[in-house]
Amino acid sequence: MAPKSGNNSPDTLNVPQKREKHRHLEIVWTNVWIFTVLHTAAFAGFILVLNRTWRPWVFGVVYSYCSGLGVTAGAHRLWCHRAYKAKLPLRILLMVFNCIACQNDIYEWSRDHRVHHKFTETDADPHNVNRGFFFAHMGWLMHKKHPDVREKGKTVDCSDILQDPVVRFQKRFYIPLVLLLTFYLPTMIPVWVWGEKVWFAFLTTGILRYVITLHCTWLVNSAAHYWGNRPYNRFMDARENKHVAWWALGEGFHNYHHAFPYDYSTSEYGWKLNITTMFIDFMAKLGQAYDLKTVPNDVIEKTRQKTGDGTLTFQ
Ligand SMILES: [Zn+2]
Ligand SMILES: [Zn+2]
Repeated sequence: MAPKSGNNSPDTLNVPQKREKHRHLEIVWTNVWIFTVLHTAAFAGFILVLNRTWRPWVFGVVYSYCSGLGVTAGAHRLWCHRAYKAKLPLRILLMVFNCIACQNDIYEWSRDHRVHHKFTETDADPHNVNRGFFFAHMGWLMHKKHPDVREKGKTVDCSDILQDPVVRFQKRFYIPLVLLLTFYLPTMIPVWVWGEKVWFAFLTTGILRYVITLHCTWLVNSAAHYWGNRPYNRFMDARENKHVAWWALGEGFHNYHHAFPYDYSTSEYGWKLNITTMFIDFMAKLGQAYDLKTVPNDVIEKTRQKTGDGTLTFQ
C-alpha cells in the first residue's frame, strides 16, 4: 500500500516526480501531423483506386512486397538478428528494398528492435505493449521515447551493424534515397509505363501503398503481442498469429521468434505463411544467402514442454 502524504509534505516535493513520470508521455506533434496527412492522403488514394483496373493494384502489390522484404529479410532477419549471411549483391538489393519501406534506416530500425527483444514488455521496450494496442502499433512513433528506452538502450551493442558498408551508405544518403524510392519512383513508374496521371499515382501507388505496408509491419508489434497462442513461452506476450503472418510476410510466428530470435525462418514451419523464408531460401539456392541458422527439433520440443502453453501449432 502506498504511504499517504502527511500535512508536512508540500506539493512542491511532488513536482519533480510528476514531471519525471509524465515526461515519456510527451507527444511529438510533428509526427502526429505527418501521420494525419499521410492517412488522409491514403484514404483519398483508396477512394480513387477502388474503381480502377488491375494495373495500379498489381504494381502496388509487387512494390509493397519488395519493401516488405527489405524490412523482414533485410533489417529484421539479416542485419538485426544476424540469422543468416548475405553476399554483397543481396545486401544491396535488400538495402534498396528497405529504402522503399521508409521505416527509419537499417541501423536505427535494428537498434530499436534489439532493444525491443532485450527489454520486451517493459518501459525500456520502445513499443511496450503494456501501454496499449495503439501505442504498440503506431502511438510510440508519436511520443518521445520513455527515458528507460534511452538509458537501457545504451547497453545494447549495435556496432556490428555499422560495420557493413551497405548500411553506412544507406544511413549517409537516407533522405534522398527515401525520396527517390518511397515516393518518386512509385509515382513516376505508372506515369511512364501506362500514362497514369501524376496525382493519381502519387496518392495510390505512392502514399496508399506506403501506408498499408506501414500498418502490416506495425501489426507485428501490436496484434502479434495481443492475440494468439503461446506454444513456446507462455510467460511472454508475444504470440503466434496467422493473420499477422499473412500480412507481414511471415513475421506473425512471434512467440517462436521471441523464444528463438536467431532462427532465419522465425518459425518451425518453413514456407507456411512465410514468404520471407521462401525468399531467403530462393536466395540461398542462388548462392546469395548462406549460413542460415535454425533451431534443432529437440530444443524446440524441450522448450515447448518446459514453458509452452500446451498448444501445438499456431491458431
Ligand atoms: Zn515482439
Ligand atoms: Zn525480431
